[in-house]
Amino acid sequence: MECPACGKSMVEKDFGGVQVDVCSKGCKGIWFDWQELVQLDENSEGAGNALEEALKSPRFKQEDRERLFCPKCGMAMHVHKYSSAKEVSVDECYGCGGFFLDSGEIKEIRDQYMSEEERDAYVDKLLADIPEFKELEEETKREKSKLRAPAGRKLVKFLRRDEFMLGT
Ligand SMILES: [Zn+2]
Ligand SMILES: [Zn+2]
Repeated sequence: MECPACGKSMVEKDFGGVQVDVCSKGCKGIWFDWQELVQLDENSEGAGNALEEALKSPRFKQEDRERLFCPKCGMAMHVHKYSSAKEVSVDECYGCGGFFLDSGEIKEIRDQYMSEEERDAYVDKLLADIPEFKELEEETKREKSKLRAPAGRKLVKFLRRDEFMLGT
């Protein structure tokens, strides 16, 4: 799969027992998808190692970057601002359920304090942000949310593992 940001080919990596694609030859961005995220066990040791590795990546993002297109299904991706951190944004493909994080964004997200309530509010915002989602029938919305909500929650929870002992 090609990196949506820089076009280099991405490498599959084990991230706490789930497969993610990492742009290790290029911009160091990380690709997650909903299916993988819901399976992520954020307490596993593997997740710890993967997170530690990701935190080492330097911050990289082109300021004037064009909208990204999903490397899997080609749909234009949506940008979600991360809470108060204006410069941090998560790109999501609503078509196939992929998330793209630029290199260093994991660290920036972790450096922002968020309470439990704020985290829930952020996930709700994540779900509501997508114009296509708003237009869906109530029932379809509920169906889609069944996978999207837990995936979003997992992602945020994983990124915010404050109890995480790095380097142990
Ligand atoms: Zn890249
Ligand atoms: Zn897609």
